[in-house]
Amino acid sequence: MPKALETVLEINLNHLEHNYHYLRSKILAQTKFLGVVKAFAYGSDSVKIAQKLEKLGADYLAVAYINEGVQLRDAGVRLPILVLHPQPINFSTLIDRCLEPNLYSPKILKQFLEVAKEKKQKDYPVHLKFNTGLNRLGFSENDVDYIIDELKERNEIKVTSVFSHLAASEDLEEKEFTQKQLEVFEKITSNLNDRLGYTPFRHILNTSGIINYSHAEYEMVRSGIGLYGFGNDAKIDAELKPVATLKTIISQIHKIEPGETVGYNRAFTSKGAIITATLPIGHADGIGRQYGNGKAFVTVDGQKAAIIGNVCMDMIMIDITNIKCKEGDEVIVFGENPTAEEFASFSKTISYELLTGISQRVKRHFLHK
Ligand SMILES: *Cc1c(COP(=O)(O)O)cnc(C)c1O
Repeated sequence: MPKALETVLEINLNHLEHNYHYLRSKILAQTKFLGVVKAFAYGSDSVKIAQKLEKLGADYLAVAYINEGVQLRDAGVRLPILVLHPQPINFSTLIDRCLEPNLYSPKILKQFLEVAKEKKQKDYPVHLKFNTGLNRLGFSENDVDYIIDELKERNEIKVTSVFSHLAASEDLEEKEFTQKQLEVFEKITSNLNDRLGYTPFRHILNTSGIINYSHAEYEMVRSGIGLYGFGNDAKIDAELKPVATLKTIISQIHKIEPGETVGYNRAFTSKGAIITATLPIGHADGIGRQYGNGKAFVTVDGQKAAIIGNVCMDMIMIDITNIKCKEGDEVIVFGENPTAEEFASFSKTISYELLTGISQRVKRHFLHK
């Protein structure tokens, strides 16, 4: 692997391929696979990841917002794209760019039907989301009558799929709750499908759902974090490969005398003679202040170096007292060691938040094709 010459987020497309095949191996060959590429493909690069998934044979992509889908269309991505949280103000753009909305409430269904009618659409593909317990977005079970009524004798839209989202698919202590969600979903979809007069496909599993509840794979599964190398479970993490590695370098090395302080607000006071390294990465790059003051470590030549003092906007300081290194040497913030999941845990968050928070200022480098 090339040594970093500045702060970069290295994206390993071979690892993405490995993870894709691993996840696919957990489901039946005929089950469709949707790759979730919202939020810059979990902080990596949505265009490159979408193009790779398209090449690998994924069936669908999903983004959160319409502008994310537009970016993929601009780059020439042809796969169907489900927009998970479309904003009505952009419905016209959504139709122009052949993006497929999640419709999740009577109000948003009505709003979409109006725009689809204005734009003279026929059988425009839409996806209906039902709330089965997450209580975030979704029609309720009781809305089925309304939906059937609304769609009767009109043809602007066609329900391509019906879906829901699990609240705790990674937590086996919530198995009973999850089973109940699956039962409610089963009931809603069989009722709806009977009354629509045609059969939309169904999907409810995210990454941890694929791992823990693959019997409920239905006709499609939706995976995000698993593609990027994490499975919310140490055993699964061991099977997956992290796609993103955040690397930086040592800008300057300082000898600190006992009693001296390091960084803003003099937050760190040295007890003994130590050596520190200053790195060109800070909270503006996505390594927040919560990682400072000894909470997190990075690695230099495979050895742990704690972040000391407050994280600055563009810099952090680390303790390299017992590490042989020099200015210009590479530093791994996360990747193989520590992993993004481990690093995130230093501030009690999860890999999802850490990965999606790496700012666009950090250059993305791609390994493999
Ligand atoms: C983000 C998201 C996913 C992906 O979840 P992972 O845990 O990353 O696999 C799937 N479905 C919906 C509705 C989502 O919002």
